[in-house]
Amino acid sequence: MDSAPLLEFRDVQKHYRTGTEVVRAVDGLSLAVEAGEMVALYGPSGSGKSTILRIGAGIETPDSGAVYVEGEAVSGLSGKAAAHYRMHVLGWINQESDLLDGATALDNAATKVVVTAGSWRRARRSVVPLLEELGLGHRLEHRAETLSMGERQRVMIARALSLNPRVLLADEPTGSLDSRRSREVLALLQEATHSRAMATVLVTHDEHAVAYADTVYTLQDGVLHDSGPDAAPAPWA
Ligand code: ADP
Repeated sequence: MDSAPLLEFRDVQKHYRTGTEVVRAVDGLSLAVEAGEMVALYGPSGSGKSTILRIGAGIETPDSGAVYVEGEAVSGLSGKAAAHYRMHVLGWINQESDLLDGATALDNAATKVVVTAGSWRRARRSVVPLLEELGLGHRLEHRAETLSMGERQRVMIARALSLNPRVLLADEPTGSLDSRRSREVLALLQEATHSRAMATVLVTHDEHAVAYADTVYTLQDGVLHDSGPDAAPAPWA
């Protein structure tokens, strides 16, 4: 049997109806992402980026088409299968920081792994090397609200990577960062994608992402367009 791509969107469509108007948020999207490949979907606000990631994460069900991981459908899952997918297969990085203020960097990074580790002590121990690798070894006991935006973003990356996901979905991971921090985060995601052989999709309107992704597509009105790795920033950038 031919091996399926690690992550595949096959002819995915999602339209929203608001009153008499139909918004074609995702319009026949097909996309294959191999293990160790970071794909950037680059597009302006309203082009369908977040909808694509929500469908990939199983949070939203497409009108038609499906998303597959190693040939198994993961869109439209419910109950235990959906929970297992989100917990063990998927790493998810939000646009907005959703860390718990008042809890330390270490505890925030450990919130996913504690479910499987059985104790906070074991969970904390298991994420320390990850936080150190991400340059946060000196911030382990600092409360989330005292961290810089770049540090908060790295805690979210540590949490997303903590259970060794096969698929990493990142929604505007550099949206709130200055250009230096943005490059650092993109380099971290690139390195993690390659070394962990994950299929990574990041959606962004950050032109820096173009240089770090293995494959870049532009997205407009829910439709993908090919762009080479040297593609010039789009006119809206
Ligand atoms: P992006 O992430 O690129 O900004 P989105 O995926 O959030 O784009 O949205 C794509 C289009 O779908 C936009 O026109 C948006 O207004 C519309 N849209 C997204 N979610 C909904 C919804 N729940 N109901 C109606 N329209 C929506």
